[in-house]
Amino acid sequence: MDTAVLIAAAGTGSRAGAGSRPKQYADIGGEAVLARALRPFLECPHVTAVQVIINQEHDTLYREAVARFENRLLPPVAGGGNRQDSVRRGLEALAPLGPRHVLIHDAARPFVTSGVIGRVLAALERCQGVVPVEPLADTLKQVDPGGRILATAGRTGLFRAQTPQGFHFPLILALHQRAANEGRFDFTDDAALLEWAGQEVVTVPGSPLNTKITTAEDLAAARQQAERAAVLEPRTGTGFDVHRFAPTGTAPEKRPEARGPSGTATVFLCGVPIPHVSPLEGHSDADAGLHALTDALLGALGDGDIGEHFPPNDPRWKGAASSIFLAEAARRVAARGGRIVHTDVTLICEAPKIAPYRAAMRAAIASVLGLSESRVSVKATTTETLGFTGRREGIAALASATVLLPGGD
Ligand code: MG
Repeated sequence: MDTAVLIAAAGTGSRAGAGSRPKQYADIGGEAVLARALRPFLECPHVTAVQVIINQEHDTLYREAVARFENRLLPPVAGGGNRQDSVRRGLEALAPLGPRHVLIHDAARPFVTSGVIGRVLAALERCQGVVPVEPLADTLKQVDPGGRILATAGRTGLFRAQTPQGFHFPLILALHQRAANEGRFDFTDDAALLEWAGQEVVTVPGSPLNTKITTAEDLAAARQQAERAAVLEPRTGTGFDVHRFAPTGTAPEKRPEARGPSGTATVFLCGVPIPHVSPLEGHSDADAGLHALTDALLGALGDGDIGEHFPPNDPRWKGAASSIFLAEAARRVAARGGRIVHTDVTLICEAPKIAPYRAAMRAAIASVLGLSESRVSVKATTTETLGFTGRREGIAALASATVLLPGGD
């Protein structure tokens, strides 16, 4: 097992003034704070188990809050007398599963982003403890009991610690058990145990969105943030790709087969096999149309590019159907709570002729993306025999994608 997630939700959470409900069960945007806090972890492909530490008296509230995904959660663990004790109990409950890493997250942080989770996980590959942090914006004052300022504290080098904090599982479990055995229950976060033991903890950038709900004002602000996130806003991404015909770099007059009467090979464009005089070269099936469209979707998400998600030197993608890449981009849109509303691809080549295959291409893309064909466009043009496409050395493809994404960031 790779990465387990522990959500600390055992607090009484009464300061946020959510009526009779503890703050982790307060409703924000039609969902409990706890449900929002754990959803991004369930959507993370590296997370193999999620467990919530609850207050035994909150059992009914817990079941109500996580009803939608209770079957994807480990059974809840009853917390202890304070946060540190509760986390230790949670870690001990996870121990039989033998996770390599654990992310420990506060249920009162419902706006944790996939970016923060990804940065913590990436840093865990090279160190034992990771904390996401945000810089301090305010000047810090030391104040006497009468409310008068004693001094201005420098804020250089000071950061606010967020969660999830990530750890190598055996280390954080051992430290929690050692602290309990020694009667130390004064650690306010989990990274503090590594600091106590003289172990290195590294920081990664957190997110200004990843705030903690403590007071009634925090809860009101969280509700506003959830409202903003419920409004979908359009994002547009573009993509461009080129694949060359085999054999490489040969001008058409030196490549007799380019003028051959019938196709002897197959090229794949927008998911459709087309007989042609020579195949396109590439690590995968060299479908420039789907590659450009995959990049357009990733661009709309601001989520890297196709080469980052599917490295061309990875043997898994050798000869792969490019619909795999497109499907993954669509999955990433869905994971962000988004919706694809329109895609447009332009293929640039002298040959093969695209028109006879255009309907099949639209159908293929619509099928992979789960869209109506009216939302999928495929066009073709030539470059009037100019340039590499004009010399029939390769095919270029342009794409754009329009995606509706939750706002609020
Ligand atoms: Mg490509």
